[in-house]
Amino acid sequence: MVRLLDSFNRKIEYLRISITDRCNLRCRYCMPEKGIELIPHTGILSFEEIIRVVTVFAKLGISKVRLTGGEPLVRRDVVALIRRLNQIQGIRDLSLTTNGLLLESFAPRLVSAGLKRINISLDSLRSERFHHITRRRAFDQVWAGIEKSLEVGLEPVKLNVVAIRGFNDDEILDFARLTIEKPLHVRFIEYMPTGKHQPWKPEETLTIDQIKKKIEGVMPLLGKNLPVHNGPAKTYRWKGSLGTIGFISPVSRHFCQSCNRLRLTSDGKLRTCLFSDDEVDIREYLRDGCNDRKLGELLETALSKKPQGHTINNHYFKKCQRNMSSIGG
Ligand code: SAM
Repeated sequence: MVRLLDSFNRKIEYLRISITDRCNLRCRYCMPEKGIELIPHTGILSFEEIIRVVTVFAKLGISKVRLTGGEPLVRRDVVALIRRLNQIQGIRDLSLTTNGLLLESFAPRLVSAGLKRINISLDSLRSERFHHITRRRAFDQVWAGIEKSLEVGLEPVKLNVVAIRGFNDDEILDFARLTIEKPLHVRFIEYMPTGKHQPWKPEETLTIDQIKKKIEGVMPLLGKNLPVHNGPAKTYRWKGSLGTIGFISPVSRHFCQSCNRLRLTSDGKLRTCLFSDDEVDIREYLRDGCNDRKLGELLETALSKKPQGHTINNHYFKKCQRNMSSIGG
């Protein structure tokens, strides 16, 4: 088995690919109301280019791929892309992160293209608040997408909740309670400082300890690191519940020491860390007709630049330039 190691001896096997910078929501903490300056269509990697990159990287040791965005389901023919990625030798785990808006109609086709699991981002269970956060009136559509994902057998169906103080922190228990009767895997994620236009303030980040304490106040949490395709989440469950409750703490207790990922932006830049603008441009080489060996070298270059950890909690921390919607989260 091929192993890709970075300069800190971390095994890198996971590529998160943003397939578009377009999004059909305007979440207040992620995108300005008027949207962001969009990358011209010609600047976005084509499906052929994405497939080539994944094929070459899979031979070198990448085995997990997640599609994200923007909103991946707004990219035309995304189902065809999934079908082709699923056939690439060496890719043993293919997943997708979506806001769920188009999911009700997509879910059956995603399954038939070979997708096994899905992550859905949802920050409120209240229709009016959903509208406020996302600036779109679409809670019912998203909920229908969640129900459909369960119905068509996507497993696990994870719900990612960014908990923000004064924004949705009064819904933590409602999200946790969802796991009692539905096989949903709710994961709380700390609010992070990303993107130069983003309005993050440190006091708005609710720490995982604070969130967990609230949930444990209702009923003890059992287990730890239950196997739900784990990644950085610490996962527990309430006794007797069908789903699980997970916690991801990039801010208060980072997990950089076990980071196994690289990101590919929709305009073909390899990013070594969510918070670092130190990117390696592969689009330029792809379009110049580079050979596979050159692509491998570019991957090596990215690995050599991957920082030991982020610096959010240091006084010299500076937010990255790119918006989350063009990195992919
Ligand atoms: N449109 C897709 C979606 O909604 O899942 C994929 C892209 S979206 C940028 C990916 C994830 O990043 C979402 O779960 C979103 O809530 C999360 N996100 C955006 N900004 C964030 C921030 N500052 N801190 C934590 N998570 C953030």
